Amino acid sequence: MPDHGWVDDSGLSDSGGFDVAPVQAYQANKTYRCPGCNHEIRIGEHHTVVVPHSDPNSRRHWHSACWRGEQRRSKGAR
Ligand SMILES: [Zn+2]
Repeated sequence: MPDHGWVDDSGLSDSGGFDVAPVQAYQANKTYRCPGCNHEIRIGEHHTVVVPHSDPNSRRHWHSACWRGEQRRSKGAR
C-alpha cells in the first residue's frame, strides 16, 4: 500500500472526511498545540493541518507523525 496521500476522502468518509495538507517549515510561523500528543508544534517545524469537512472553522495542526498514527489507529479500530 502506498504511503502517500495527504487527502484520504475514501478511507475517512464515514467520519465526515477531512482536508489534510502539509505545512512546510517555512510556512509554520506560529506555535500550535498538537491534539495527538498535546505537545507544541514549534515555529519552523514541518507539520500537518487537518480541516474537517463538517466544520471547516475548526482546523487542527498536528505533528505529521501524530496524524499518521491517529489515522492508523482509527482505521485499525474498525
Ligand atoms: Zn504531536
